[in-house]
Amino acid sequence: MDAVSVLFIVGLAILFAWALAVSITRGRVIERLRDATGAGDADEVERRVRSALESADAARWDAEQVIHDTGYLSELLTAGVVRLRDDLTVESANSAAHVMLERRPGTMVGRSALEAFVDPRIEAVARTAMEFGSANGELTVRSSSAATVTVRARRSPVSGVWLVLEDVSELRRLQRIRAEFIDNLSHELRTPLTTISLLAETAGRDAESASPRLRERIAKIEVETGHLIQMVNELLDLSKIESGTAALLLDDVDLVDVARANTERLRPFAERQGLRLALELPDHVPPVRGDEDRLGQVLINLLHNAVKFSPNGGEIVVGVREDEGEVVVWVRDPGIGVPRADIARIFERFYKVDRARVRGRGGTGLGLSIARHVVEMHGGRIWVESEEGEGSTFSFAVPVAPLGTVAGSASGAAGEATAPAQKDDSVAPA
Ligand code: ADP
Repeated sequence: MDAVSVLFIVGLAILFAWALAVSITRGRVIERLRDATGAGDADEVERRVRSALESADAARWDAEQVIHDTGYLSELLTAGVVRLRDDLTVESANSAAHVMLERRPGTMVGRSALEAFVDPRIEAVARTAMEFGSANGELTVRSSSAATVTVRARRSPVSGVWLVLEDVSELRRLQRIRAEFIDNLSHELRTPLTTISLLAETAGRDAESASPRLRERIAKIEVETGHLIQMVNELLDLSKIESGTAALLLDDVDLVDVARANTERLRPFAERQGLRLALELPDHVPPVRGDEDRLGQVLINLLHNAVKFSPNGGEIVVGVREDEGEVVVWVRDPGIGVPRADIARIFERFYKVDRARVRGRGGTGLGLSIARHVVEMHGGRIWVESEEGEGSTFSFAVPVAPLGTVAGSASGAAGEATAPAQKDDSVAPA
C-alpha cells in the first residue's frame, strides 16, 4: 500500500470515530434529557424542552413586568422608596426620595449608600437593618428645607434592604405647637386653681359652725378643685413625656413605703367621697430601681380613679406583693368596672369609657396613659382585671432592683435616665 492509501484509510477511520463519538454523545444527551423530563422518546423530549423554554420566557417576561410595575407604583408614592443591594449600593430610588434628599433625578442609582444619601445616619439605619432585619430612625436631613424625616429600613427576604423615607416635618411642628399650647395653658391654670383649693380648704375649716348645706358645698368645691388640679398636672406631665424632658431620678425604692405614703395622701379625698381606704402590705419587699415620685404618681393616678369611679360607702384596698422577680402594686375598688371591650384601650391617651356613664367624674383621659408611660420607663408593665358593675383591680409591676444596687450599699447611687421620646438622630433596630 502506498502512503496515500494509508493516509486515506486513517482519515476515514478518524471520521468514523468522530461520527461515532458525536452520535454516542447525542444519544447520551437525549438519554439524560429523557431521564430529566420523564419523556418516552426523542420527540417527546423535544416537545418538553420547547415547552420548558417557553415557560422560562413567560416567567422572565412576568418578572420584568413586576419590576416595571413596582417602579411605576413607587413613582406614585409620596414617601421616598430606596432599594439597596447587599453591598449597600443603590439599586433603585423613586422620585420622592430624590426630592426629599435634594438629589438630581436618577443620580442616586448605582452609588454607595453613603454617596447617595451624603448622610452617614441614613447609611447607619440601612446597615443596622442589614444586620438585624429591620431598623428605624428619625433625623433632620442636611438640605435647604432641613426636613424632619423618618427612615424605616427592612431587609428584603430576597436580598438587599428596602428603605422608606417619610417627611414628618409638618406633623412634628403641629405636635410641638400642641405640646407648647398645653404646657402654657396648664401653667397659667395651675396658680389660680391652687389658690382656689387653698381658699376652699380654709373656708371649710372656718365654716365648722355653719349649716351642713354650706359645709357640703364647700367640700364639693374642694373635691372639684382637686379634680381640676389633677387634670392640669396630668396635662403638664404629658407634655413633658412627649417632649422627652421627663427625667427619671433613679434610686432604690421601697414600694411598700410608696404605697403607704401615697394612700395617706389620698385618704382625705377618698373620705370626702364617703370611701374607706385599706392597706394590705407585706412586712418587706425587695427594692426596685426607679423614681420614687414618679412611681408614687402612678399609684395616685390609680387611686384617684378608684375613688372617682366607686360608689359612696365602699372600700378601696391598696396592696403590694413580690412576684417572680417583680414587685406588684395593686388597687382594688368596688366601682363601676371597665367593660370588656374597653379594657384594651383605657391605657391609650385621651381614651375614656362611654362619657355618659361617668358624667361629672370624667377627667382628661390621660391618667392611665401617663401611668403606663411611667411604668414602661421603669421596664415594668401595667394592667387591669375588671367586671363591669363589680369593680376593678388595677396593678403595675416593676422589676426588682439588680443585686448590688440594694439600698444601703448604694448610697449616692442615684442616677438619671431620660424618658423614651422622639429624638433627633435616633437609630434603633425595630
Ligand atoms: P380619666 O382622667 O378619664 O380618669 P384615665 O386615663 O385615668 O382618664 O382613665 C381612662 C378611663 O378608664 C376613664 O375615663 C374611665 O372610663 C376608665 N377607668 C379608669 N379607672 C377606672 C376604674 N377604677 N373604674 C372604672 N373605670 C375606670
